[in-house]
Amino acid sequence: MSETLQKTNLLGLTREKMEAFFLSIGEKKFRAEQVLKWIHHNRVGDFEQMTNLGKALREKLSQVAEIRAPEIVSENISKDGTRKWVVRVTSGSCVETVFIPEEGRGTLCISSQAGCALDCSFCSTGKQGFDSDLSAAEVIGQVWIAARSLNNQPAKIGRSITNVVMMGMGEPLLNFDNVVDAMNLMMDDLGYGISKRRVTLSTSGVVPALQKLGQVTDVSLALSLHAPNNALRDQLVPLNKKYPLEVLLPACTGYIQGLSDKSRSITIEYTLIHGVNDQPQHAAELIELLRDVPCKINLIPFNPFSLSDYKRPSNNALHRFQRQLQESGYNTTIRRTRGDDIEAACGQLAGEVQDRTRRSARYQQKRVEPDNQIAVRSI
Ligand code: SAH
Ligand code: SF4
Repeated sequence: MSETLQKTNLLGLTREKMEAFFLSIGEKKFRAEQVLKWIHHNRVGDFEQMTNLGKALREKLSQVAEIRAPEIVSENISKDGTRKWVVRVTSGSCVETVFIPEEGRGTLCISSQAGCALDCSFCSTGKQGFDSDLSAAEVIGQVWIAARSLNNQPAKIGRSITNVVMMGMGEPLLNFDNVVDAMNLMMDDLGYGISKRRVTLSTSGVVPALQKLGQVTDVSLALSLHAPNNALRDQLVPLNKKYPLEVLLPACTGYIQGLSDKSRSITIEYTLIHGVNDQPQHAAELIELLRDVPCKINLIPFNPFSLSDYKRPSNNALHRFQRQLQESGYNTTIRRTRGDDIEAACGQLAGEVQDRTRRSARYQQKRVEPDNQIAVRSI
């Protein structure tokens, strides 16, 4: 007798997969629509509340299925309204989700992996090593948890969370299928109905996956560039040695040009690090490098963390860099630090990650956080 019947977690199922699930248990396809609405529009986590399903079906569902989001470990609200959730995923590690309210919009920043294998030198997630991929349910579960907590009513869907960015922990293109399923649910009217322009995938440049991405979705793309030449990018983003700029930039441009809406552009993320990539000659090189790339540039002042010797650039250097790009016609913004009182700013987020690669043993040994919970990580 097996007591460990694996229930299907309906939270991460796309419309197609939900329909296939209902057919597989001998039910009609249209049940998928009803259940998707209960889960994502009403954020219901219990079949008993699904009142337009008959009692027998509700009972059957509770035998074979479940709606299981990651466990919420903590929720904090900053003075500026930024919210941060720490959630535990299947592996036992914790990842974080941040909601950033702004005038006229609300951006949810979510994680795709616990840890990251790519080891960018300025990123504390990278220093933690890789633990695990999040399931589709764990990726979309972060939206579900945030929407639930922000107390959206069905009629207001999308008003609180207007944008989702895959800029939390992990490299989303290395968890391709689960991330694509979750993004499809974000955009589906039966899910969260967020426009494709307002769902953004950020990548450090996994070129083969970028090429595949264009065949399955049309979300917005952000590229973590951080350097204007290969020599410097090799140091900051080691993945560059595998996919250097001369293959990476055409792959990004190809993705954008493949979209039906020709007015779209790539967001270039450039983390400015004092004395490393923040000099006028770097801006001049960047201006040349991006000449044929339809893009806008987002400058992110480096947020320091323990065990990194890098420093934040001065405000002068930051604004000089921005001006230089703007004078050459680039739409260039500086990412404002938000939620730093709850450690929710880029580079401040905490995860609790077991490094299965053991790459960062030195880093882990040196962690001295009092509650054994926090290792600074980046978004
Ligand atoms: N792996 C993906 C998405 C997660 S990282 C990627 O690399 O794009 C998202 C962003 O967090 C990166 O663009 C990077 O600029 C930023 N980031 C990482 N560490 C940071 C730090 N210490 N200070 C400021 N921004 C940081
Ligand atoms: Fe991974 Fe992105 Fe951090 Fe690089 S910047 S280590 S790709 S999470």
